Amino acid sequence: MTQHPGKPAGLADPHDLDLFEFARSGRQAAGLVRVSQLPRMLNEVPAEAPERESAFTWQAEGTTQPELQDDGTEGPQPYLRLAIHGSAWLECQRCLAPYSQAFNVDAIYRIVNTEAEAEEFPLDEDEVDVIVGSAHFDLVDLIEEELLLNLPLVPKHEVCPEVHESLVSGAAGEEGDEAAEDEAEEGGEPARPNPFAALEALKKGGSGGEKH
Ligand SMILES: [Zn+2]
Repeated sequence: MTQHPGKPAGLADPHDLDLFEFARSGRQAAGLVRVSQLPRMLNEVPAEAPERESAFTWQAEGTTQPELQDDGTEGPQPYLRLAIHGSAWLECQRCLAPYSQAFNVDAIYRIVNTEAEAEEFPLDEDEVDVIVGSAHFDLVDLIEEELLLNLPLVPKHEVCPEVHESLVSGAAGEEGDEAAEDEAEEGGEPARPNPFAALEALKKGGSGGEKH
């Protein structure tokens, strides 16, 4: 055991996990990670987001499955299941306002020993991803990787709020006030000559020309 003294088993450091042991022992772990701890995810959060401290909960479970090895014998193949739930603020590409995007990840990884082994693994099983395990595995890094993979291609509101709704109603209000003022002026100054009435008078002839 490489547990830190005083730290109960199961609360292993998610930044430094023996992934092979985690899978072989069928261990489980869970925790909370904040967007502020994930620099690449934080890059996606617009500056005007209401909060930059939204959090994700995660659960990890190690298992093994008997599989045929290269040497023809059957051996336990380590697997990791990772679930992530939470939300982050992204910028809507339609109205450019920040919105809260939900993330719900449930992934299963086949844990291999080397990069070469990962590359030669047949990709016909699209339900399963392959990751290179380590005795000092950074699970938080994997969580961030998975969230980035699950970013929407075009982040946007399902339904955008009405654009500048407050501004539109504000402008309408001003117009209304102006109209009211006009009415007040008309009512308050009945003697004010109507230019169209004057024009009609000129057209009708009479003494219109002599006024100049
Ligand atoms: Zn929008």
